[in-house]
Amino acid sequence: MAGITPTLSVPEPRRFLSLPEENREALCAARTLAALALLFSVAGCRPSTPAIHTFSTIQMDTVVEVTLVDTDSTHARTLADEVFAIFARVEAEMSRYQESSTVSTLNARAGQAAWTPISPGLEAVLRESLRIAELSNGAFDPTLAEVNRLWSFDEGGRLPEPAALAAAVSHAGWRLLQVDSGRARLTRAGCGVDLGGIAKGYAVDAGADLLVSRGVSGAIVNAGGDMRLIGHRPDGGPWRIGVQHPRDPDGLLEVIRATDCAVVSSGDYERYFMVDGVRYHHIIDPHSGFPAMGCQGVTVVAERAMTADGLATAAFVLGPEAGLDLLRRAGARDALIVDAGGTVHRLAEATAAVSATKGGDKATP
Ligand code: AMP
Ligand code: MG
Repeated sequence: MAGITPTLSVPEPRRFLSLPEENREALCAARTLAALALLFSVAGCRPSTPAIHTFSTIQMDTVVEVTLVDTDSTHARTLADEVFAIFARVEAEMSRYQESSTVSTLNARAGQAAWTPISPGLEAVLRESLRIAELSNGAFDPTLAEVNRLWSFDEGGRLPEPAALAAAVSHAGWRLLQVDSGRARLTRAGCGVDLGGIAKGYAVDAGADLLVSRGVSGAIVNAGGDMRLIGHRPDGGPWRIGVQHPRDPDGLLEVIRATDCAVVSSGDYERYFMVDGVRYHHIIDPHSGFPAMGCQGVTVVAERAMTADGLATAAFVLGPEAGLDLLRRAGARDALIVDAGGTVHRLAEATAAVSATKGGDKATP
């Protein structure tokens, strides 16, 4: 089982592995995983019996894992490679680290009048980013590229120089990002788009949608704990997702049984470094430019991974109370928030409390 990375996770070399691990006993593992898919062995299968096949690679700086229910491992591998190809395309277009990406072009033109042409996929991600930015009152901000660059979590992390951080914060702001049909621009120099909080979810949805269109009976697409669950396990049961405790690599907060939905986690244990007992991690409060301190971890269940991804990051920044309020307003199906003190807050309970104070029906347990 994957553990919580004890120290700052250093970016792993980019590889394209496709490792079949058929009929294995328990789990999809990822380097910084907060949610684990619990798989169970299908022993003694005949060749025509559907079984679980798992393939993984490293893309978008995380472990991408595709789990498929299929009668044929070669067919399953072909499908998994199609999903990995989608991730490669999304990364090449939306990574701020790749100079040739559309996002890098957009950022290089910040402050100029010129628009940058964008694909329908990137347009969808930018529009969803702005929707969640507005809904969360700016807690989710897709324009933190310069702030994130100063923290350098992708290279091990360091405390930014205060004046540079203050300048980067003042140059950021989601209202500076304009999205039009097929094009986008940033209206202030020094502002830059960073889609690290949402693009993985988009890629997971794109991969999952492809598998649905291919008619798979069951699958999980998992990018470092951002998952879409499709259909059922070979025995017809729902998928089981173990939500990892943010401070206990061996502990599960809960096992979610679900299908045809997204389960996405954000946490302060994914990328961080410690200075004088303070944990500096990669989820930034856009108002201060410093890591948000109200939570240890957030897990959101929603229909689409892109939405769940953005919402989990936003709720983490807002903290448990405002975070649950956001998730309720956004229509999340379920959520778990572990606050800074380790107390677990549930969306279902919060919803029940609200309906009770409004005198409405009590939510069923
Ligand atoms: P996630 O793991 O989905 O919560 O995303 C964290 C990543 O999103 C970081 O590594 C940054 O690239 C980016 N990010 C950090 N803070 C924010 C924020 N407040 N709003 C949007 N993206 C952020
Ligand atoms: Mg996110």
